[in-house]
Amino acid sequence: MIPLSIADAIFLYFLLWVLVVLVLWFREQARLKRNEWKINRSRLFNCDNCHHAFISAESVNLTRCPRCNSICFRRKQRDIE
Ligand SMILES: [Zn+2]
Repeated sequence: MIPLSIADAIFLYFLLWVLVVLVLWFREQARLKRNEWKINRSRLFNCDNCHHAFISAESVNLTRCPRCNSICFRRKQRDIE
């Protein structure tokens, strides 16, 4: 068996915890980057029938309203900015 003093054992214990925390932190950062919201105007729709604003899953010009199921068109919008 490897001779190990109490100080070395405590050091290894904290070193392992720091490594575990670092691995979990990198994993969380990768998860946040993967699930990041990317909202732009091409996905934002506003229903003319029920005035419900929603975000479509894909960037399309035609979709159905999730509330009233009516067809929503993408209109050309002028950029105010
Ligand atoms: Zn609607």
